[in-house]
Amino acid sequence: SAKTSRFTPRPGIYEVEPYIGGEAKIPGVAEPIRLAANENPLGASRQAIDAYAGIAGDLHRYPDGGSTLLRDSLATRHGLDPARIVCGNGSDELISLLVRAYAGPGDEVLYSRHGFLMYPIAAKTAGATAVAAPERNLTADVNSLLAHASEKTRLVFLANPNNPTGTYLPDSEIRRLLAGLPERALLVLDTAYVEYVQASDYSDGLKLVEETGRVVVTRTFSKIYGLAALRIGWAYGPAEVADVLNRLRGPFNVTRPAQVAAVAALEDQTHLQHSVEHNATWRAWFAEQLARLNIRVEPSEGNFVLVPFADAPAAADFLKSRGIIVRAMAAYGLPGYLRVTIGTETEMRAVVAALEDYPQ
Ligand code: PMP
Repeated sequence: SAKTSRFTPRPGIYEVEPYIGGEAKIPGVAEPIRLAANENPLGASRQAIDAYAGIAGDLHRYPDGGSTLLRDSLATRHGLDPARIVCGNGSDELISLLVRAYAGPGDEVLYSRHGFLMYPIAAKTAGATAVAAPERNLTADVNSLLAHASEKTRLVFLANPNNPTGTYLPDSEIRRLLAGLPERALLVLDTAYVEYVQASDYSDGLKLVEETGRVVVTRTFSKIYGLAALRIGWAYGPAEVADVLNRLRGPFNVTRPAQVAAVAALEDQTHLQHSVEHNATWRAWFAEQLARLNIRVEPSEGNFVLVPFADAPAAADFLKSRGIIVRAMAAYGLPGYLRVTIGTETEMRAVVAALEDYPQ
């Protein structure tokens, strides 16, 4: 719905509501249990925190605009070409840059119905048309995506695994999608939650970048690495895509604190492993506990689960009265669900104790 305004923004901008996230609060509760943003409940690596604190004397210096050390560290860790890595102010920025680079008025950006909310937002603000392909069982459906692709499709966004559903597509399905998509469509595999995945038929997509030249993979330091506050993500794609993103991005889009902390975080694989194990343990425990309460959570490969409630907003309010913040999913078109991030042991026990008192 276009508003009347003296200064006319580009088409599509008034079609989105401002995204409000982070800083979850409950009036009167000093330290609420925050399980609404899929953050790492164990925090960042001690080494990353120390590296961050250690550069306080350099705050007057611009960061390395090319994030060189970080790209080199990522390339070494994952066996990639550093020239084709582009770092961003969170992977959110990379999603927006990809849309701005490749799609505008008249172009289509395809995504799965309950895919990450930023895809339609980024598409609309670039003036492109966001096309949602229906899903099956809260899972992206390759046939449906292919049926909704057209010669106008410039980008296809697939979060794998997906937020908020927690579902994923196996490598074979990603390949089938790629084989059926029009030649001019670039597939963006958003793997923000890649480290949490346990399914054996899953692949992180990095090999597909090399093999096909039609895939961009995005990743983030906000989840398993616990650096959400620093806003840092990265993309790996064909050389031409990296070149385009480098032309479009801000000259110093990743701050110096973010770069040094991310490099240190990558080196602390012990913390990463510990975080992975913590998540697997408590995600399984939470599902078992809820099953005991006759609540069947949706299977998830991420650090969060969807929990069905007849009246999800009421359930969210009840948890809030117990000092627990979770996300009601109506804005994602999932009005019958809460999304609960896997927290610390104490936090998960508090959620279960609260739900034992909640009359479903
Ligand atoms: N992709 C997915 C699937 C996400 O869930 C998120 C975080 N909510 C992001 C991307 C963006 O993460 P960030 O910008 O913090 O890297």
